Amino acid sequence: MDVPFLSLRDVNARYVDELKAAAARVIDSGWYIMGDELAAFEREFAAYCGVGHAVGVGNGLDALSLILRGYKEMGRLRDGDEVIVPGNTFIATFLAISANRLVPVPVEPDPATCNIDPAHVAAAVGTRTRAIMPVHLYGQLADMAALADIADRHRLLLIEDAAQAHGASDGARRAGAFGDAAGFSFFPAKNLGALGDGGAVVTNDDELAARVTALRNYGSEVKYHHLYQGLNSRLDEMQAAMLRVKLAHLDEEVARRRQVARRYRDGIRHPQIALPRVQAEERHAWHLFVVRCAQRDALRDHLGAHGVQSQVHYPVPAHRQPAYASLHDAQLPVTEQMHREVLSLPMSPVMGEEAIARVIDACNAFGGAA
Ligand SMILES: *Cc1c(COP(=O)(O)O)cnc(C)c1O
Repeated sequence: MDVPFLSLRDVNARYVDELKAAAARVIDSGWYIMGDELAAFEREFAAYCGVGHAVGVGNGLDALSLILRGYKEMGRLRDGDEVIVPGNTFIATFLAISANRLVPVPVEPDPATCNIDPAHVAAAVGTRTRAIMPVHLYGQLADMAALADIADRHRLLLIEDAAQAHGASDGARRAGAFGDAAGFSFFPAKNLGALGDGGAVVTNDDELAARVTALRNYGSEVKYHHLYQGLNSRLDEMQAAMLRVKLAHLDEEVARRRQVARRYRDGIRHPQIALPRVQAEERHAWHLFVVRCAQRDALRDHLGAHGVQSQVHYPVPAHRQPAYASLHDAQLPVTEQMHREVLSLPMSPVMGEEAIARVIDACNAFGGAA
């Protein structure tokens, strides 16, 4: 049998009794949207992140988008304002910006960490720049101290795309607690995954939390009275109940991910396979274990032939997508090289020793391009 890239069935099987009990509680309650489970999860997730507010929303894209929309309603952002983003990220980071008639300005990552390079951010700040949206890519914290410096100096909003980084920390603060606000995704494959779609906005900003709380629910604070032209993007009771079960196990799962990563980093020894660079153990929550290889596609085929599944995060950068023709002229050679070289190995909190060893052995047996 193949070593799967990720088996969500196995991940959730460990909690099946708890999940079924939580589902039964919701079914029996007769209350399915905006109830006690959501309120409890919002309290618990805010406490986990160490922030004042968590607002449950429909998915991670909406979490990011609603932060920007909230700041627009507060007068902090206007149409045409620029938001600096890493060139190498999932498309959602860009989509959240353009959906609000703001302009994504992609900059190069630091090739060592794959995270946005503060020097490039500083160089990209212009007269229309109003925000920086770093991504804690693959689960490793971006250089938030350097980015906060730049944001302070230029009075920019600092908004974390924390969709991959539940549980990453610098020892003092967790992902989600570094900027003005952060967006999380609870897509099933994320470190904290629901059994469907979900997301959250976390922030210490009382006013932003109030705006997002209204915006996610038709722009309404009082039923049938509408302050904003909002949307319907709520975290439902069933998903909130599933997430409460899984949040209680998150730290233990992240610890297990770190053990798998440690085994890979100790065991994979190959001159053509570059291992991920880690700044400090606690800063990486290992949503993905991403190696780099000049013959990436050959490595992927080789692993497949040895029964090891792998994926590419991501094959085409946003500025090369048909959806972003306006950015086709962007010069981002580091970003483009990264998209050619990255390969994600199997990673999950349920990987057994045998599967880990098979991945390591298959990598070490790579013969390079034929
Ligand atoms: C998953 C992800 C999102 C979007 O989350 P969804 O819940 O799928 O909408 C945003 N940004 C990054 C970096 C992601 O990995």
